[in-house]
Amino acid sequence: MSYCYLCGKKLCNEKPEHIIPNAFGGHLKSRNILCSDCNNKLSDIDRKLCSDLELLTNFISPKRENNKNTIPIIETICDGETFDRVADGSYRKNKNNIQFDGKTLHFSFSHTPNSEAEKTDFQMLQNILRQFAKKNNKNDEWIQQQISKALNQSVINSKESGIHHFQFISNKSGYSFLGSLKIILGFCAFKKVDKKYLESVVEILKKQDVSACYKIANYFNDNSQLPKNSVYHTLYLKGNTISKTLYAIVSLYGVFNIFFLLSDSYEGVEIEESYNYDILKNTPSPHNMSYNFSLEQINRILVEDCAVTIIQQNFNQFMNFFMLRDRQNYILKKIDEVKQSVFQKLVFRNEMLTEENYRNSFTSLFFEAMKKCHNMEFLPEGCFYDLSKIILDNIHTYDWYCYNKEMLLFMGNSVTMLYNSHPKTQDELFNLLTSYINTFRCATPEIQQMYDENKEGLTKFIMDFYRNALKNTNYKDFFLKQDSLNQK
Ligand SMILES: [Zn+2]
Repeated sequence: MSYCYLCGKKLCNEKPEHIIPNAFGGHLKSRNILCSDCNNKLSDIDRKLCSDLELLTNFISPKRENNKNTIPIIETICDGETFDRVADGSYRKNKNNIQFDGKTLHFSFSHTPNSEAEKTDFQMLQNILRQFAKKNNKNDEWIQQQISKALNQSVINSKESGIHHFQFISNKSGYSFLGSLKIILGFCAFKKVDKKYLESVVEILKKQDVSACYKIANYFNDNSQLPKNSVYHTLYLKGNTISKTLYAIVSLYGVFNIFFLLSDSYEGVEIEESYNYDILKNTPSPHNMSYNFSLEQINRILVEDCAVTIIQQNFNQFMNFFMLRDRQNYILKKIDEVKQSVFQKLVFRNEMLTEENYRNSFTSLFFEAMKKCHNMEFLPEGCFYDLSKIILDNIHTYDWYCYNKEMLLFMGNSVTMLYNSHPKTQDELFNLLTSYINTFRCATPEIQQMYDENKEGLTKFIMDFYRNALKNTNYKDFFLKQDSLNQK
């Protein structure tokens, strides 16, 4: 039977509670820690700790178990302007300029293209239009039309993303130490530490006594035993029968490292427990640590000044992992953009290339475009050729190129086919298109197979294309009223 370590109530059917808050990627859970009432009472402490760590959480965006806690957005400064950094690494100016001059709404957005930040801005645009539509009895279709109209008419200025400045202040709320104490007390309950040795520290948490907490806790300046090859949350607990002390270390993101003296009159069994969670790989990663401190050493740790250089070291190391991850994302996005645009360029070029010419042209265009990309200087040139080969062998193969060429022709021929068939109504036109699509045959079996595999998407594409085109009266006249024109 377990009891709530805070109020002593018997625990039954409690929901499993995260020992390290899930909001920043904690996964260790137990039912035997706190009753739900006490947990609710302490939720404010959790929230403050999460908010103090939000910069680190935003950078690493750890995997959480529920989507209830979103990855926090942080403010950054670039060229004197304030931006929001969204968890996918994109930026948006957090004060968008919106003006209404009585007739027209003027918007100005700044964000990273094709990103979560852009989605947020478009969502905002949609919300504004929705409010306007509600007042003026317009429907959803009207909203969509206005959005595409606005986007068509918009002027887009792109600029190289400058350098963003961040500032990490540890323990901003003043409650980070209490928040960490809650984590370590949860770990003690989980490891079934005799609670008579924890009474005084439990009292500190219960009263949320910040100044008493500072007396038993301090920044931990020793880096020698914490794991360094990834980003981790680490807990360490020691019941030392020789020095009669019970002490603990909490390390969050490897950056915020706190030492706690839980008892200086410990007479229980020898304890040495550690828990280590790799946030980048999203998996527990056992790591042995052992600290044998005398009470004298501990008292020194508790009054030591916080070593700024150690925090700096830890933060730099954290940033290295972050940069590595962000850089990989950046490279993948760039490769994707470049390969797509090179492929389209080749498909839309008039002449039909031989396989050799196609591969050579693709490789040289891809190489040039990649070399021009911002921040690609650190990649060796040879890797662009390797990448190009991988893309040509697996994604934009010569068959895929031929198929796209063929489909471009097929699209073009559909115009001639419709023009010559004189449909009188839209229904008739779409029937003609359907049978045109269904009767397609290609001499090359590979291309016919691609066609069969992609037919559904292609049909939708063609149908949507004509549906949109017919909204334009000029096209409508061209396709549907040729009889009257011919007779003139
Ligand atoms: Zn309780």
